[in-house]
Amino acid sequence: MKTDIYTVEQIAPDTWRIDECGRDNCYLLCGSERALLIDCSIGTGDLASLVRSLTNLPLTVAVTHAHGDHAGGGHQFGEILVPAAETGRLWRGQNLRVFRRKLLSNRMKKQGIRKRNVRGDIRETIWTPFEEGATFDLGGRTVRTVPVPAHTVGSTVFFDDENKLAFLGDSVCPVLPMHTFCALPLAAFPPIGDRLYEMTAGYTLWCGHGDGRLDRDLICRQTAWVREILEKNPANAERQTAAYYPAFDKTGCVGYNPGNLYETEEPFDWRWEARRFLRG
Ligand SMILES: [Zn+2]
Repeated sequence: MKTDIYTVEQIAPDTWRIDECGRDNCYLLCGSERALLIDCSIGTGDLASLVRSLTNLPLTVAVTHAHGDHAGGGHQFGEILVPAAETGRLWRGQNLRVFRRKLLSNRMKKQGIRKRNVRGDIRETIWTPFEEGATFDLGGRTVRTVPVPAHTVGSTVFFDDENKLAFLGDSVCPVLPMHTFCALPLAAFPPIGDRLYEMTAGYTLWCGHGDGRLDRDLICRQTAWVREILEKNPANAERQTAAYYPAFDKTGCVGYNPGNLYETEEPFDWRWEARRFLRG
């Protein structure tokens, strides 16, 4: 049995949050000339038709970063724009079906979403890089991008200044995702957190998971928590699994990897993580 996959919520004029089974969010923004879809989910349903039911405008699809739960649905659109830093083989590989099928959450399984619902292949998608600071002119509405390398090396925030909306992808979520595949060392986060907090003053924030809502003050708390973790742990640990600080709390905490706190000469071995992910 397959249940309805997408839920649509209008969050501002000409702006929608599209929720894929409570697993991840993408956002559709319409101007007078063009529409912009920010992220495109894992690709478990017919997202392209859903978007077409909301707008007939020429569509650009751009992703906040290249994790499979944000770029995976790209095959439905033919071409997607991806931060230039994430267009290499490592990143494209995460959008193979085998990885995206692993991203199905228990919640999705309970809703009747099975592996076979994850369709499409990375080879069907043209990945066009967009450079740091790219802007998207939608006609009467311009969306600018700011790189925030932490969750991944190319993670990017999209700002709609006219409507005071910011779309953060996974750069900050209620559980700060610094424990995920290809996250930078945790020490990369504090300057990014400080900057994000400053940059988002007066903006309503939308993130890539949960119900999308993000309290700006949480950025401040998470940045302080990250500093505490680093003070308490002056070196990388041997263990390479996820940990949560101060404790796991889906309304606010830091997810991190004790084996990836600081940059080392020998970079963190993500192949090890990939094997573990596929086995688990
Ligand atoms: Zn991510």
